[in-house]
Amino acid sequence: MTAVAGNLQNWLNTGLKFLYPEVCQLCKAEPATAPDGFVGRKCWSQVRFIRPPFCERCGLPYAGELTTPFVCTNCHELELHFTSARSAVVARTVVLEAIHRFKYSRALWFENFLADVLVREATPAMCAQPWHFIVPVPLHSFKRRERGYNQAALLAAHLARATKIPLNEKILRRVNLTATQTLLTRDQRAANMRRAFAVPAGVTLAGKRIVLVDDVLTTGATTNASAQAMRQAGAADVCVWTVARGL
Ligand SMILES: [Zn+2]
Ligand SMILES: [Zn+2]
Repeated sequence: MTAVAGNLQNWLNTGLKFLYPEVCQLCKAEPATAPDGFVGRKCWSQVRFIRPPFCERCGLPYAGELTTPFVCTNCHELELHFTSARSAVVARTVVLEAIHRFKYSRALWFENFLADVLVREATPAMCAQPWHFIVPVPLHSFKRRERGYNQAALLAAHLARATKIPLNEKILRRVNLTATQTLLTRDQRAANMRRAFAVPAGVTLAGKRIVLVDDVLTTGATTNASAQAMRQAGAADVCVWTVARGL
């Protein structure tokens, strides 16, 4: 390499480090690299995976001693269309912050971190059973264009690579643009979600076993409506995996 090219290379490396400093983007106080999703070891150590006991249907962790399988009161009252939902962690602290910034502030550098949290928990559980497809919860095409990406699809792609189960984004569409859900009550959310999703005409899911993936599960209204659309199109089984569980 000539001196000029060498200087140029050094200058470029310095420039890239300036644009993408190798610093944890959560605490800004420890080293972290792109493959880590720019989350350092100290912040990673705050991640707490959900461990039993949790609700068999919705994955809601139960604080206390329980030795027998149980279903929470929410699930007793609801008509659920997925067989079970599991989340890797509770939506708190570092994971909650990373999800919010990943989703709403275009902080795409957190993708590897969030995918890692999901893949570590979901892969062993999913590989215990046969599945045909991994389907991300879709965004309406208008919202997809506005945001530029579907955060659930980015995360689902990592899970598809880790499990070798094919990713399929063609099975499920978001057909109604729903208002932002955060200010609505649980019943309003569920009503809002009904008919929000559809399986395209001509697609049959007869006998298919599907894993639905999203970033967060809060009331379950979104995942339940998605699962309902796929079950109505013939899917034999729909289970849900999300990075985090909102409480
Ligand atoms: Zn950190
Ligand atoms: Zn439950």
